Amino acid sequence: MSVEKTLSIIKPDAVKRDLTGKIIAMFEEKGLRVVAQKKILLSKEQAGSFYAVHRDRPFFDELCEFMSSGPIVVQVLQGSNAIDLNRQIMGATNPEQAETGTIRREFALSMTENSAHGSDSAETARDEINFFFSGLEVLQF
Ligand code: ATP
Ligand code: MG
Repeated sequence: MSVEKTLSIIKPDAVKRDLTGKIIAMFEEKGLRVVAQKKILLSKEQAGSFYAVHRDRPFFDELCEFMSSGPIVVQVLQGSNAIDLNRQIMGATNPEQAETGTIRREFALSMTENSAHGSDSAETARDEINFFFSGLEVLQF
C-alpha cells in the first residue's frame, strides 16, 4: 500500500480534556507519524469555511460553534494507507456506533463533540492539508 498524508484534527472537546497526547499515541501505535502539527483557535467563519461541504446540513451551525469553541490541534499524519487507517483509528461518526478501542468510542461526548476529524479521500486530504499548512510547514521525506 502506498504512503499517504492525511489531515487530522483533534477537536475542542478532546483538547480541552488534555487528551491530545493519548490520541497521538493511538496514531503512532498504528503506524501513523506526525509530519506537521499546530494548536490553533478557529473563528466561527473559518470553521464554516473548512466544513463548507456541510453548509446545508441541519447540524452545520452547531458544528461551526463547536469547532470554534476552543483550541484544536491540526496535524498532518503520514503512513501506509494513512487516509483509511486514520478513519479506522477514529471510528464511526456516532460514538455509540464506534468500535471499542477507537478514539470516538473511548473519548467522544456526542455526535458533534466527537474528538477527532480525518480526511475522507485523497482529494480531500490534499485540499484540507493546504487549508491549514504551507508546504514549508510539512516535513517532506
Ligand atoms: P469528520 O469530517 O469530522 O472527520 P465524519 O467524516 O465522520 O467526521 P461528517 O459526515 O463529515 O462525519 O460530519 C462532519 C462532522 O459533523 C462530524 O464529525 C460531527 O462532528 C458533525 N456531525 C455529523 N453528523 C452530525 C449529526 N447528525 N448531528 C450532529 N453533528 C453531526
Ligand atoms: Mg467528514
